[in-house]
This record gives sequence, C-alpha cells and structure tokens, in this order.
Amino acid sequence: MIPGMTQTAPGTALTPFPLERVTHWIDGKPVAGVTERTAPVYDPALGAVRAEVPLASVDEVDQAVASAAAAFASWRTSSLTRRTQVLFAFRELVDRHKQELAELITAEHGKVVPDALGEVTRGLEVVEFACGIPHLLKGGYSEGVSTNVDVYSIRQPVGVCAVISPFNFPVMVPMWFVPVAVAAGNTVVLKPSEKDPSASLLVARLWEQAGLPAGVFNVVHGDKVAVDRLLEHPEVKAVSFVGSTPIARYVYETGTRNGKRVQALGGAKNHMVVLPDADLDLAADAAVNAGFGSAGERCMAISALVVVEPVADDLVARIRERIATLKVGDGRRSCDMGPLVTREHRDRVASYLDAGVEAGAELVVDGRDVRVDGDGSGFWLGPSLLDRVSPEMSVYTDEIFGPVLSVVRVGSYDEALALVNANRYGNGTAIFTNDGGAARRYQNEVEVGMVGVNVPIPVPMAYYSFGGWKDSLFGDSHAHGTEGVHFFTRGKVVTSRWLDPSHGGIDLGFPENV
Ligand code: NAD
Repeated sequence: MIPGMTQTAPGTALTPFPLERVTHWIDGKPVAGVTERTAPVYDPALGAVRAEVPLASVDEVDQAVASAAAAFASWRTSSLTRRTQVLFAFRELVDRHKQELAELITAEHGKVVPDALGEVTRGLEVVEFACGIPHLLKGGYSEGVSTNVDVYSIRQPVGVCAVISPFNFPVMVPMWFVPVAVAAGNTVVLKPSEKDPSASLLVARLWEQAGLPAGVFNVVHGDKVAVDRLLEHPEVKAVSFVGSTPIARYVYETGTRNGKRVQALGGAKNHMVVLPDADLDLAADAAVNAGFGSAGERCMAISALVVVEPVADDLVARIRERIATLKVGDGRRSCDMGPLVTREHRDRVASYLDAGVEAGAELVVDGRDVRVDGDGSGFWLGPSLLDRVSPEMSVYTDEIFGPVLSVVRVGSYDEALALVNANRYGNGTAIFTNDGGAARRYQNEVEVGMVGVNVPIPVPMAYYSFGGWKDSLFGDSHAHGTEGVHFFTRGKVVTSRWLDPSHGGIDLGFPENV
C-alpha cells in the first residue's frame, strides 16, 4: 500500500489524503528510502510544502534496477495475450481513476484540474496504442528463400529501460514510454520529476492492480545522483528522457557513451506564424490557448508569435482583449490558469518581463498585476504579453517556460520562415492562414518536428510519433507510434532450414541461395 492512499476493494476508488512522505516503488512494494536526502514537494497554489520526496541513493537505484532485471526474464517470455490483457486492464483502471490522478497532478503541479484531466487522457491514448502490441510486433516471413530455407524477422525487448521525466506532465510523459516498453516485454525504472512525484505512485498501484508482475514497473525518486546511476548501470539498456535541453544533451551523451540506446527530448521555443490572410479571431484564440494554457509550462506551448504585417496591431489588440477575460487562480476552483510550479521558477519567468522592457520590447500586459482567485502565498504570475520583440532579446532566445507570449513582427512569409528555421529549437510550430498553398509550403520548408496548420498545439496522436528536431531532441527515435515500438525492441532475423531427409554434406563456401 502506498502511504497516502487508502484502498477499498480492487478496482474501486483509491482515496488520496495529504502525503507526508512520498515513497519509491520497488519490486511491487512501496519503499520508504533510507537516504536522509529529501526535497520538498509544494502545492503551488498554496505556496506550501505538502510532502517530502526521498532522493534516491546509488544503492536504492541499484535495488530498483535489480528488481527490473530479475523480472525481465519471465516478463519477456510472457505471451502477447497475457501482456495485452494487463494493458487492457490498466487502461480501464487509469480511466476509472483519472479524476484522482488529475487532482494529484493539480495539487503538485498547479495546472487546473480540467487540463490535468486532459493530460491523463492523452496518456491513455498511448496505453490504447500499446494494447495493439501483437499487431505492432508482427515481423516479416519469406518462405523458400533457398531450398528448404525460410527467413523471418522478429522484434525482441531490449531489457531494463529507464524513463526520466520532467515536472510539466507527471502522468502523460511517463505514459509516452512505459506502456509501449512494458507491452514489448521490457521492464522499467521510472525516475519522475522530484517536483511532482506522487502521481507516479498511484500509476504504479494501478499497474499492480492490472496484474503486472512485481518488478516490471519500478519508481525511484531522485535527482542527479539517481539519473547518473541509471545512465551508468550496466543492466540499463535503454534510456528515455524528457526535460530541458542542457540535461537532455547530457543524458544523451552520457548514456550513449555507456553503450545505451537513448532518446532525449529537450526544450522548445515554439513559433506560431500568422499570415495576413488568417482568420484573426481564430489566431487570437489559438495564441491565448497555446500561450497561457498550463501557465505556459508545456513543451508545445506557443511562446513566439510571428506576425506578418500589416495585421500585428489588430491581432495584438484581440489577444489583449482575451487575456483580460482569463481567470487565474487555484486549479481546484473553476479558473483558466493556475500558478507556476515553484517560487523560483515564477521569479525567473517574471524576470524576463523586465529583461524584455530593458531590451526595448513593449509590455502590453504585465502578469505581475494579476488578481488571483487563490491563496496569496501561491506562485502566481498572470498571462503576459510582450510586443515588438526582436530575435536578439533574451525573451526570444531563451525558453522561458511560463505565461509570457512574445510578438515578433515581420514583413513577409520568407522572413517568418527564416526566423523559425534559424532558431536552435525545433519542437512544434503552427501556421495560421487561409491560403492552402502557403500552409503547404510551410509544412515542407520548416525545420521543426511537429507542425500545425490552423492548429496551435499539434501534439500527434499516439499512433504517430512525438518529437522535435535540432536541440529539441537528441537521438534518432521519437516517442510512441512506430518509432517508440522500434526504440523498445531489437530486430532479429532468423534464417531457418528444416532438412529434407537428404542433405548436401560439407561445403566450406559462403552460403549461397539455390
Ligand atoms: P529538467 O531538465 O530540469 O528535469 C528533467 C528531469 O531531469 C527530472 O527528472 C530531473 O530530476 C532531472 N534532472 C534535473 N537536473 C539534472 C541534472 N543536472 N542531471 C541529471 N538529471 C537531472 O526539466 P523540467 O524543468 O522538469 O521540465 C521542463 C523542461 O522539459 C522544459 O525545458 C520543457 O521544454 C521540457 N519538456 C520537453 C518536452 C518534449 O517533448 N520535448 C516535453 C515536456 C517537457
């Protein structure tokens, strides 16, 4: 039983109560952690510590990896039927408990409950995708490539997989990887963000209820010590990381140096290009939704609005009107936008408003003036709009990861495209236009991994793969979809010959097909 959860009967409600001490989850059991190193977990809307999370030692990481390694031997040989049954049961359990998961996310991340529910739902889509694993693992078969010889390809699990996730999607990001890894026959050690660790324990409990054997899914909480151990441990064969670009690069370089396959998704600076012929109401709605949803703490948030003149004055006015209608406050009340995740992050994001003004941008809406429906101690910063931002300003070059939308005015489509392509990040982008030809050119010419046409947050469905280009992803494989299945499996080709009662005898020549 996880401290902080009371369970009634299998499949019925798990009732969370305020956690005092988050635990690891190793070999199907909560493990308190022997380390004296802990970190505070905040309720960002209250500005108060709600729990403390243990930061795992090397020994504790080793326990989790040992548990995963021991479970691998039997899990990899469990039938596809059995694995699929677990996946389907898990899907139902997550669906049944999504409200509790969402409330747990809101309590530690701060995003409003409906947005947290949306996160769980997008995670569920990957579980549903992974339910199709028998089909996804089907290989090819060629009969009779030579006399009495058949060739076929199979995909096998890689072993113990580490998943290291960021604070901004504590349920969805682990679900980009874990269901696919587990369905393919791997075992997993998840290292969630230490800022919002509790949802991962409820998820672990749901896996257990779904019938996943102990050790197949483990959770260790921690910081750099835990991450470094996972990157070095010889039993860890694959690492899926999501977080900021400097850490993604470090994880990729360290993990691959240690012989692991690594997919490391990094930060973003997502541009929304608005052409003069666009529906400006649609564009204004989209900019507000994608700029300020989840307080801008989304890797697919729009943070740079590139407006092709002469429509910038008009669009900025429409966005300003909409910002005035947004309700900022406690995510458990009916607000549109919650607080930022920590006080330090809030202060760092707010500092960009001064930096922008000092560099010559125009502060159209200052989120520091916001009135909130919430506790005065919460980590608040309202939606903020900077106009006349230019590409050398820090508000443009840096990933701010907060509710700050920067408007860059340009003279032409070509100027807009050059700006987006010169940016070091390439996660998501959107173009707003009524010109199909222009949109088609943009989708072809832009150097970004995920593109929206009149869609501001083009997060792919689970059966496509999620991931950016350039400094937004290190490695070759994007998350989920067929690339995810490939990442969590190794290809093998079998050439088999079932002898005819007669055979050809000894021949030292290189095998030729006859
Ligand atoms: P982060 O890089 O600070 O942390 C991510 C993970 O790395 C956490 O588990 C953390 O404990 C660990 N970590 C932190 N410092 C480390 C270090 N020095 N050595 C080893 N491990 C370390 O990121 P965050 O603040 O939790 O999340 C926000 C970032 O994640 C943003 O940059 C955002 O763009 C990015 N993100 C990207 C995607 C994507 O799909 N590309 C999705 C979500 C978030």
